[in-house]
Amino acid sequence: MRVYRLVGPGELRRQRVTIPEPGPGDVVARVAVALTCGTDLKTIERGHARLKVPGDIGHEWAGRIETVGEGVSHLQPGDRIVAMPTAPCGDCAYCLRGAENLCLHLFEQMALGAYGEYIHIPRHIVNRYTLRIPDHVANLHAAFLEPLACIVHGADLVDLSGERIVVFLGDGSIALLFAQLARLRGAGRVVVIGRHLQRLDLARELGADFVVNAREADPREAVLAITDGLGADTVVECVGRPEAWQQAVSLVSRGGEALMFGGCGEGTIVELDAERVHYDEITLKGGFHYTADSVRRAWELICRGTLTLEPLITDQMSLDQLPEALERVRRREAVKIAIVP
Ligand SMILES: [Zn+2]
Ligand SMILES: [Zn+2]
Repeated sequence: MRVYRLVGPGELRRQRVTIPEPGPGDVVARVAVALTCGTDLKTIERGHARLKVPGDIGHEWAGRIETVGEGVSHLQPGDRIVAMPTAPCGDCAYCLRGAENLCLHLFEQMALGAYGEYIHIPRHIVNRYTLRIPDHVANLHAAFLEPLACIVHGADLVDLSGERIVVFLGDGSIALLFAQLARLRGAGRVVVIGRHLQRLDLARELGADFVVNAREADPREAVLAITDGLGADTVVECVGRPEAWQQAVSLVSRGGEALMFGGCGEGTIVELDAERVHYDEITLKGGFHYTADSVRRAWELICRGTLTLEPLITDQMSLDQLPEALERVRRREAVKIAIVP
């Protein structure tokens, strides 16, 4: 089979390998569609704090089961499925206190490799996070489960209700999805700050009340103008760069909160305005990954068709065009691209 693997930093290579065989309890699926994701770009460019390089890459996908390992009875070859890239151990100190997204063993054995014709899903993920796709749900929509589960978890960490003014820093697919969810949870006004016209137009189409093009306007001034000089109640940082983290703090109102949703590279140090954090009582939070509950609720949103997902897929390309597809996303010419093997 064909597969793209990350063989070193910045080095994505097309390989021909044998189709994986499922061990006891495992499943091997044929990928029907994989979605490009900002995390993949970051991992290729600068490595990842939690993922191994060299290694498999690609984690947003849907497909059909090809073979099942010994002892798998709840799934069968031919089933349309989606699977999460990780599952918690259920047994470590963090799992026991309900913080499954922080599980000590989360990244030891993953289901990565969606940028290939077949993907291997290890037993613990088969048991917990491999879901059969109902007939009325398209593969393309099901493939949004991972990013959406992360967003549902992130949304639980902040207050999006009660007419609050919520600012999203970033105009990538995460911000565009999160903004929709904020609206759904009752946010009063939703503001998306970005640097790309096409994406900002899309943000407006998907329900943002205000969009700010950071190439043309100063984000802080724009947010102050929208909020009677107070700042945003909640800021959600969806970029994953130190400058954006700093900016997030500058946009929050007194007593407000900032969710750092974009992961920075390993070893990144960010300087923060300590005066604001203390004297203005600003709450800073990190938000990472997903829990069983956020996966379940994200799946409900997808199966009910509550969110508008289609416009986020701006292109479809073949597996052989993957490097070109990722380059297009990197140049911000596309939001997400559907890769069809
Ligand atoms: Zn992703
Ligand atoms: Zn654990």
